[in-house]
Amino acid sequence: MADEYIYDVHHVARDNDRSLICRCPHCQEITGLDGDDLEDVAGEQYECRCGGWFQIDYDARRVKGELPPNKGIPG
Ligand SMILES: [Zn+2]
Repeated sequence: MADEYIYDVHHVARDNDRSLICRCPHCQEITGLDGDDLEDVAGEQYECRCGGWFQIDYDARRVKGELPPNKGIPG
């Protein structure tokens, strides 16, 4: 069960089809983002299919390859 805290996400990557993806801070699954560029998704909030919410940090970085675990600290 996902907790209700909206975690910040600090790393996004490009999938093979060029869409933006990130790792859900709740379930650590890869999830797609609705936007073409980092500037489009920064500050946006998304709901993962696990039911957890997260927000793309304004200082999020684009990474190549494996996305690191992405668990924010509540509070
Ligand atoms: Zn999730």
